[in-house]
Formats: sequence, C-alpha cells, structure tokens
Amino acid sequence: MTGVLQKAVRDHMRSCQPIGHQSKARDPIMVDYVEDAWKKLLDLFFPPRCVGCELEGHHLCPTCLAAVARVKPPWCALCGRPLSRPGFHLCPQCLHSPLLIDGIRSVAFFDGVLREAVHHFKYGGLTVLGEPLGELAAEGWRSLRLPGDVIVPVPLHARRVRERGYNQSALLARELGRRVNLPVLENSLIRTRETAPQVDLNAQQRHANVADAFECVTGEICGHGVLLVDDVCTTGATLNACAEALRKQEPRSIWALTLARAR
Ligand SMILES: [Zn+2]
Ligand SMILES: [Zn+2]
Repeated sequence: MTGVLQKAVRDHMRSCQPIGHQSKARDPIMVDYVEDAWKKLLDLFFPPRCVGCELEGHHLCPTCLAAVARVKPPWCALCGRPLSRPGFHLCPQCLHSPLLIDGIRSVAFFDGVLREAVHHFKYGGLTVLGEPLGELAAEGWRSLRLPGDVIVPVPLHARRVRERGYNQSALLARELGRRVNLPVLENSLIRTRETAPQVDLNAQQRHANVADAFECVTGEICGHGVLLVDDVCTTGATLNACAEALRKQEPRSIWALTLARAR
C-alpha cells in the first residue's frame, strides 16, 4: 500500500514539474538548470521505478528498453507497415489508396513495455519518460536515415494542451531534435479543430475524422525536408492529414517517424 501511495505522490509531483513550453520566453539555460535541479530533487525523495519491471533508479530501465520489439523489414515503402509477404513494395492499403506523405517509419511495436511507457508518458504526466523514449526515437532515426532537416511534431488542439499541460509529441520531438541535432518547429503546424479520439474508429473513419484538422501557419518549412514526429502510428491517417496541410507550404519532402506502430 505504501508503494502505491508513494507512486501516486511521485507521479503527481512529476506532473507538476516545470515544462519547457510553459517557459518558452525565459532564459533557456536557466530553464534547463531549474528542470535539472527539480528532477534531482524528485529522484532523491522519490526514486524512479522502471514502468516495465519496477527496477529502482530508472523510469525505463536499459533491459526493458533493449527488450522492446523493433519493427524490422520488409515493410511497406510508403506507410511502413510490416509486410507479411516479402517481395511486395507496397501494402494492400497503399496500393488501394496511397498516402500523401513521402513515407512513414516506426521504431518499435506498440505493445508490452513500450505501450505501458507511452501510456504513462501521454496520459500519466510522466514527462521524464521523454528521455528514454527520445533515445529510442533517435536510435530509429540513426538506423533508418530518414530525409529531413527540420522536425515538426504532430500538434494537439490548444484546448487539449491546456488540459494535459503538454503535447507528448512535442516533448518527444524536442528529445529527438536534441540528440540528432535538428531544429524543432513547434509553431508551424497547428490543429485547427478538436477531433474525436481515433481509437474506436476504423481506417476510413480515422481519415475522415482528421481530414482538414491541421493548418500550416508559418512559411518556415518552405523548401525544407520535414520530419513529422508522433508517438504512435496506427493507420497513418493523422500523419497523412498533417502532410496534406504541410504540402501547401511547398516543403522539399515530408517523412514521418513514430516511436511506436500498432500491430
Ligand atoms: Zn525495466
Ligand atoms: Zn502501406
């Protein structure tokens, strides 16, 4: 019981940590210093436990991170979905209705410990998981060698950001950008309307649900290779809708990297 209570307190405390986007106008060195000091203080009083195996000292321990099932080829050249029959270039869905994005790739499958970690990261306020998850995303970026010289996170609607306190894709994009030395453009793409959760919708409904839900509001990406970043890809509908909005600003290319891929 004490452990449960301690975890609840620790999670609540972590959810109250200073987050970068709330401090955008402040001195970034000072923000880093305060965030670092805050994390050290929390770790001292509430040592982290791995979301996978509960090992003390890590939020996601190296053993659990290494055990996450990576997506391996062959995959669809367009949407990145693993192909059950080798020898094909595209999956049946992309042959039937190709996406508007140049390509989507994902690092690992959305199950087991990664599903647990993403859930805590996205809904549980455990933003510190951005570090190991960002490292996993960077591992994927290094091995996949995707085109792109600017990173754009998939945006949440402003109201959802206010409710949650952060956009998990933006946190992930920052962690990735820092590791692979690419700039992150957080204000280029916005979600102009709130959309229903995609989870209970079929592929066709998902595309309709997010159609025209995004808008590119700055000209920053013109001529650049865009790398969209999101936590999970299921059908690619959201990334496709983002690509449609980005395309109007005439970027050189639009690829997407997601941490996880639903099976
Ligand atoms: Zn572990
Ligand atoms: Zn495909």
